[in-house]
Amino acid sequence: MQIPYNSFDGIHGEIHEELTSRFEQVLSKNCYIMGDEVFEFEKSFAEYIGVKYAVGCGNGLEALHLILRAMGIGEGDEVIVPSNTYIASALAVTYAGATPVFVEPDINTYNIDPKRIEEKITKKTKAIMVVHLYGRVCDMDAVSEIARKHNLPIVEDAAQAHGATYKGKKAGSFGIAAGFSFYPGKNLGALGDAGAVVTNDKGLAEKVAMLGNYGSKVKYRHEYKGFNSRLDEMQAAFLNVKLPRLDKWNARRKEIAARIIFEVKNPAVALPLANDDTYGSVWHIFAVRCKNRDALAAYLYENGIETLKHYPCPMHLQKAYAELNIQKGALPIAEEISDTELSIPVYYGMSDAQVDYLIEKLNGFNI
Ligand SMILES: *Cc1c(COP(=O)(O)O)cnc(C)c1O
Repeated sequence: MQIPYNSFDGIHGEIHEELTSRFEQVLSKNCYIMGDEVFEFEKSFAEYIGVKYAVGCGNGLEALHLILRAMGIGEGDEVIVPSNTYIASALAVTYAGATPVFVEPDINTYNIDPKRIEEKITKKTKAIMVVHLYGRVCDMDAVSEIARKHNLPIVEDAAQAHGATYKGKKAGSFGIAAGFSFYPGKNLGALGDAGAVVTNDKGLAEKVAMLGNYGSKVKYRHEYKGFNSRLDEMQAAFLNVKLPRLDKWNARRKEIAARIIFEVKNPAVALPLANDDTYGSVWHIFAVRCKNRDALAAYLYENGIETLKHYPCPMHLQKAYAELNIQKGALPIAEEISDTELSIPVYYGMSDAQVDYLIEKLNGFNI
């Protein structure tokens, strides 16, 4: 049996006709930037997350960058960023002109460890960026308490957490603003690059919208030296087709993840924490840890199961961030995750037979 790491067949199979008819509609409207599809998506996505405003933009990286810029964060400032995340979280800080300061994760949740935030706060700290990694929301009560105590805003990188919940509230509704990515492989994905900023702050939403549109609200009047980062009509149209199905697609991911967690009983494979009354992960990535990670990956591959590593090299050891001068060994938890994490296929469209097979093979690994 073959199980690819990810496949769009499940989700696109059932909406193929709607996607093509929406494509025809947009094509015939002669409006491809800033039209009804974008306005409709912004309205329904804000409603879905449970916030007042959503502003479409070009991608997830730019969503985060625009938020930080709109907050006035820049040169000489520091932003707390988890050491275990995709590089986009830190790059957004760098692009704004500020410096990312890495805080280690909790090895069991993979998310920022609230107990380690305070020791990294300095006079220069301007915000705490949380990343709801792999689809699981961070411990927001603990992070919010630290943020309140130090009077710091929280920015959420929710690029992996569309629909994820914490105490019944959705990822993206906890901070001053959140950035989402609709990269095709995300739980809610466009058919190309796309992103959004969500917030309850009207001023911030307006400024983000202007910064993403050449610093302009009224055509050819430029209040800021803005950027070009807009969500286009075509991608918004595809997202409008997909958003109403997101909960159903996430529910299947949850069902598969729960089965793996309860049915895999292999001491060599460390499983992620199960969902409970507090945490509703949407399992963008199903991350296990294994001392012999590469052997596990090779064994699964031989058995037709594709896996990935998220992420094989932590940000502080990337050549791109040599300027931070952080040595190997300085962020040992991020490094351990990089050395031992393996991402197992979990997505809408996997058949029960594939899930049975995956569980059987995970239980059969013994090196
Ligand atoms: C995907 C991702 C991003 C960036 O999104 P793009 O749309 O690819 O720019 C940012 N942060 C995290 C955690 C991501 O997984």
